[in-house]
Amino acid sequence: MRLSKTFIKTLRAAPKDETARNGAYLVRAGYIHKEMAGIYDYLPLGLRVLENIKDIVREELNKLGCEEVLMSALQNPEPWEKSERWLSEKIDIWFKTELSAGGQLGLAPTHEEPVVNMLKSYISSYKDLPLYVYQFQNKFRNELRAKSGILRGREFLMKDLYSFHATEEDLDRFYAEVENAYRQIFERLGIGNCTYETFASGGIFSKYSHEFQTLLPVGEDTIYYNSDKSVVLNKEVYNDEVLADLGATDEKFEETTAAEVGNIFKLKFKYSEPLGLKYSDEENNQKVVYMGCYGIGVSRVMGVIAEKFADDKGLVWPEAVAPYEYHLIGIGEKGIAEAERFYRGREEVVLYDDRDKRPGEKFADAELMGMPVRIVISDKTLESDNAELLYRESGEVRKINIEELFGNF
Ligand code: ATP
Ligand code: MG
Repeated sequence: MRLSKTFIKTLRAAPKDETARNGAYLVRAGYIHKEMAGIYDYLPLGLRVLENIKDIVREELNKLGCEEVLMSALQNPEPWEKSERWLSEKIDIWFKTELSAGGQLGLAPTHEEPVVNMLKSYISSYKDLPLYVYQFQNKFRNELRAKSGILRGREFLMKDLYSFHATEEDLDRFYAEVENAYRQIFERLGIGNCTYETFASGGIFSKYSHEFQTLLPVGEDTIYYNSDKSVVLNKEVYNDEVLADLGATDEKFEETTAAEVGNIFKLKFKYSEPLGLKYSDEENNQKVVYMGCYGIGVSRVMGVIAEKFADDKGLVWPEAVAPYEYHLIGIGEKGIAEAERFYRGREEVVLYDDRDKRPGEKFADAELMGMPVRIVISDKTLESDNAELLYRESGEVRKINIEELFGNF
């Protein structure tokens, strides 16, 4: 991408009401545009980050045999009435609207009801199970407080996976596979060493559900961990009874804040029963389908990474999610010619600052935008046949021979 050709611009200041660091930097660096509290547009750089996160999630889920779909955001009240989740007294974050032909419509805050309803057309026999479907889809929630940048949006991108099984054992098996896949996903996203699988309340259907919580000072959740962080619990389940159940009564727990980047639930019959999702077994008996659901907040993950790794100069992207690997700057006549030559054929991995601006301004923008490696080719570095590399995260500066740069990058 050539910075001279894109419409995005870096900004000196974030909107006054953007108090969260992730939101402020992402707006200033041209990744997102703020429409109003909790409502953001994703610009070319921000979209690339989202796509990188999606690619990693998709790869790991496809390995488990999950099938990707894209369901409508518009919700028919009917299936939600069956599960008693249509009334705003039950689900207080609904956005609802009127159909011009008469009747109501909702904007999906999640998709359990429609996915069960849809699969009633495709599941009838034990031979149709197990089945795993997921999507990347914008959810709508009328959140009361939306002050955490993209950590809590009124519209946000979620990956939601739903699994369908003939037996509880099969649900347990798949649940464990998803736990492993999630560990792998957060590892690859660069937050594996600060993301913990956390016991959370499971409602009435299973003892616990699990959340994946990333340690974060501005995180909205409070979690408790033991000395080696092998037992981590959220606030809801941090009590004597649960500690006894987990054999952790004698351990010392510490409290900290975190952001929930994902969660997984064994739903069992919670939705399949009221919506009548059944299959016939080998003896032709009608049985209710077992279900699990598994979420990841894709746009929240982007916000968590932005928030977590940023420093006082700007964003710092881990390589796996960075929109581009290199931020290229040419200085002086020869430097610019060599930069142009380097850019050619590497358009997919290089953000090239070819704007007519002072080097100082370009350096500051490179720090704000946060690509992993800044490459400067200038008349001066070329005097010794070198280019200069600056690693954003460590601050390490290295000279590299220009031929080596062309050969290895
Ligand atoms: P929270 O407790 O943070 O409100 P939740 O428990 O309601 O989230 P789910 O309904 O299970 O979350 O959604 C799955 C995932 O979507 C969450 O783990 C979180 O990462 C993300 N998420 C939930 N609400 C939002 C939001 N308003 N903005 C961005 N991401 C969200
Ligand atoms: Mg939660």
